[in-house]
Amino acid sequence: MRAMVLDKLGQPLQLRDVPKPRPEKGQLLVRISACAVCRTDLHVVDGELPNPKQPLILGHQIVGRVEEVGEPANFKSEISNQKFATGDRVGIPWLGWTDGECAYCQSNRENLCDNARFTGYTIDGGYAEFTVADARFCFHLPDLYDDVAVAPLLCAGLVGYRSYRKTGNARRLGLYGFGNAAHLIAQIALYEGRDLFVFTRPGDSLTQQAAKELGAVWAGGSDEMPPEKLDAAIIFASVGSLVPAALRALAKGGIVVCGGIHMSDIPSFPYVDLWKERVITSVANLTRRDGEEFFEIAPRVPVKTKTETFPMEQANTALEKFRAGKLKGTAVLMIAE
Ligand SMILES: [Zn+2]
Ligand SMILES: [Zn+2]
Repeated sequence: MRAMVLDKLGQPLQLRDVPKPRPEKGQLLVRISACAVCRTDLHVVDGELPNPKQPLILGHQIVGRVEEVGEPANFKSEISNQKFATGDRVGIPWLGWTDGECAYCQSNRENLCDNARFTGYTIDGGYAEFTVADARFCFHLPDLYDDVAVAPLLCAGLVGYRSYRKTGNARRLGLYGFGNAAHLIAQIALYEGRDLFVFTRPGDSLTQQAAKELGAVWAGGSDEMPPEKLDAAIIFASVGSLVPAALRALAKGGIVVCGGIHMSDIPSFPYVDLWKERVITSVANLTRRDGEEFFEIAPRVPVKTKTETFPMEQANTALEKFRAGKLKGTAVLMIAE
C-alpha cells in the first residue's frame, strides 16, 4: 500500500510503498478514505513529543471502511470487535489502545492509562491507504457527515469536547485561540446557551469578526481584558503566557483549561491571581465515553466543520500550510482508491 512515512524527525514525509498491515486479534483492517491533519502531527514531526514510533505513519483523525475484521479478542470480558462488520464506516481517534487494568483504566480515566498507545504517534496512523486499529477504540460516525466533514471531529472535536466538559456549567466561557478545536467547541457552547468570549492574536480582526459572526458576545486580542470576568477559559493556543493572562480574566472559583498537548513555558505570576479557588488544569487525550457523548451531541447542534482537502501525496504541503497559518479550514488528506 502507499503511505506517507516519517523516517526522521524534522524531515519531510516520504511517499513509500509499504506492506499492507494484517489485522491481529481484536483489530479491524480499515481502508482509509480521509484523514484530517492535527497540530499534534506538527509537534510529532518537530520532535516535541517524547518517544514517537520511528519510522512512523502520522494521522489520528481517520475515516474509512472496515475491510476485514480480525479474530475476536476477549479483553477483560469486553469482546472487542463485535461492534463492526465488513463495510461499516469507522472513525479511528488518537487513543488507540489501553491496557484496561492500570489504576487509571480501572477508575474511568483511560485517557491517562500508564500503557496507552496513540494513533499516528506510538502506533501507525492514517496518512496511508490502509491501517489496522483496535476495534474497542473505534467509533461509528453520525450519518449527517460525509467522510471529509467528519474527519476533523475525531481529534479537534473529541479533545476539544473533553476540554469543554472540564468547564462544567460555566456561563461566561473564554476561548484563547480560535483554530479548529475552538471553532467546533464554540458551536456546542453556543448551542448550550453559554456566553462566549473569544481571544485571538492581538490585531487579528478577521478572526475576531468570524467569532462574532458565529455568535460570540465579545472578541478581542489575548492582551485585552474581557468586559466581564469569566467563569472558565479554555486555552487552545500552545502559548504558555496565555495561562496567567487567562487567570487574570477569571472570576472567583473559575477554571483555566489548557487543551493542547504541548505548550511553551508558563511565566510566573502572583499568587493573588490564583487565590479564591481559581484552578488551572490540562486535558490529556480522550476516553471512549467522551467520543460517544460528542458524536451524540455534534449532529444535534449541528457542529459544522470547515475543511481544505489535499491528496495524500501532498501531506507535506498540508503540514507546511498548517504551520504557516495559511489553511482555510482543517486540512484533510483524501486517500484515493
Ligand atoms: Zn491502563
Ligand atoms: Zn489531534
